Amino acid sequence: MLKVENLVVRYGAVEALKGVSLEVPDNSVVAVLGSNGAGKSTLLRAISGTHRLHRGRIEEGTISYGAAGREASQDRNGGLSRIDKLDPAKTVSRGIVQSPEGRRIFGRLTVDENLRAGGMNSSASKSTRAETRDRVLTLFPILAQRGSQRASLLSGGEQQMLAMGRALMASPSLLLLDEPSLGLAPQIVEQIGEIVLEINGMGTSVLLVEQNASMALRVAQYAHVLEVGKVSLSGPAAELAKTDQVRDLYLGHGAEEISGTAAVGRSQHLTRWTG
Ligand code: ATP
Repeated sequence: MLKVENLVVRYGAVEALKGVSLEVPDNSVVAVLGSNGAGKSTLLRAISGTHRLHRGRIEEGTISYGAAGREASQDRNGGLSRIDKLDPAKTVSRGIVQSPEGRRIFGRLTVDENLRAGGMNSSASKSTRAETRDRVLTLFPILAQRGSQRASLLSGGEQQMLAMGRALMASPSLLLLDEPSLGLAPQIVEQIGEIVLEINGMGTSVLLVEQNASMALRVAQYAHVLEVGKVSLSGPAAELAKTDQVRDLYLGHGAEEISGTAAVGRSQHLTRWTG
């Protein structure tokens, strides 16, 4: 499980996160909704340790993580260990892998080479890596068909699939997805949503950052709304979808359609955060 507590992140004078707390339980999909500049990418960067590459600084708060079968560290705390001071490579070795906003695939490399790059730092044996690759290609058959093509020739949706496939090559226990629906046609967005559910079905937790609330709330069990660096609303995804705040700001018409593949049947109450 991932536990973020009272996280404050700054870029120089800009306070991007102002005391954010949230959890991602083992084997779950958790969505973070928010409009431009709300702090969604900053949250994922802080978790993956990449905030420093953007001149970001964690000023307060903690990020802790513990996943079954992963190496434990000295500073364990209730089964969780602090990860907020780790560099990105160590965070990956703990099982947390980020698929960044804008995909960031290597356009000049082939699809196969991109996938190999994703598994490069894995300490897994050759045969385990081959199994992982097979699983990724089963999940994204298009990547098997296009293996020898330059990644830049793929469509936007295919590039998103490559970015997700590349992240999965590191066999994460927690996958951080930054706006996978960005710029994609509705049909492709639905497909991405289905794939997120399949990834979760294979035992990987997903923290999904999205502006597309419709897809995110459909696949997530639990969700948070981030507004200018603060969590303003949290709760089971199906219940969040019914709130005026989410319907007005993120869903618009068609909110009724969210039956919540994953969210149905949850009975917890929403938490409103003030201050
Ligand atoms: P978007 O959906 O547009 O990517 P977001 O919710 O992911 O938005 P962030 O990118 O985390 O939001 O940005 C949060 C705040 O931090 C914004 O005010 C943004 O301008 C600022 N910010 C982000 N990156 C940097 C940076 N490298 N240097 C300075 N300010 C930054």
